[in-house]
Amino acid sequence: MTQSNTPFWQTKSLQEMTRPEWESLCDGCAKCCLHKLIDDEGAEDAAVDTDFINDNEELHYTNVACQYLNDKKCECTVYSKRTQLVPSCVQLTQDNLEQVFYMPTSCSYRRLAEGRGLPSWHPLLNKGKKSAMHKAGMSVRGKVIFDDMVTEEQYEDFIVVWPLHDLD
Ligand code: SF4
Ligand code: SF4
Repeated sequence: MTQSNTPFWQTKSLQEMTRPEWESLCDGCAKCCLHKLIDDEGAEDAAVDTDFINDNEELHYTNVACQYLNDKKCECTVYSKRTQLVPSCVQLTQDNLEQVFYMPTSCSYRRLAEGRGLPSWHPLLNKGKKSAMHKAGMSVRGKVIFDDMVTEEQYEDFIVVWPLHDLD
């Protein structure tokens, strides 16, 4: 393969990518729309809902998704208003790349930041289609309940490990 037809994610760093390139990297798995809890040894409340992690904290994923997620398409239904409607909805950008290690291990941005490349099921390697990702079980499709169905205190009952799985 020559340099000219080598895909951009193999020739550019995350910081060097154009906005459309950056946006196209997102696989649309929607794992980042799941509520996460931190297990903080020093905290009075052992596990609390979070959108940030510190070095001494352990992160747990739940299968409780944001109520504005379409769990079949794995798409946000309020994209243009998401930050007003869900203040904790923090999108990864080139300006807050240090938070990439807070993303699930299968997240494209985290994979590239760790030098692991894109997986075979990624939409960019499957004509833009998400079907290979869904088939590989790498999205949230069919696995979630919504945060308007439970209280925050109940999130602990919905801790799951599948969002931590990755597959090449
Ligand atoms: S986890 Fe990463 S790749 Fe998946 S939807 Fe979120 S930002 Fe995109
Ligand atoms: S507002 Fe949209 S992008 Fe943000 S967490 Fe909810 S469904 Fe996901």
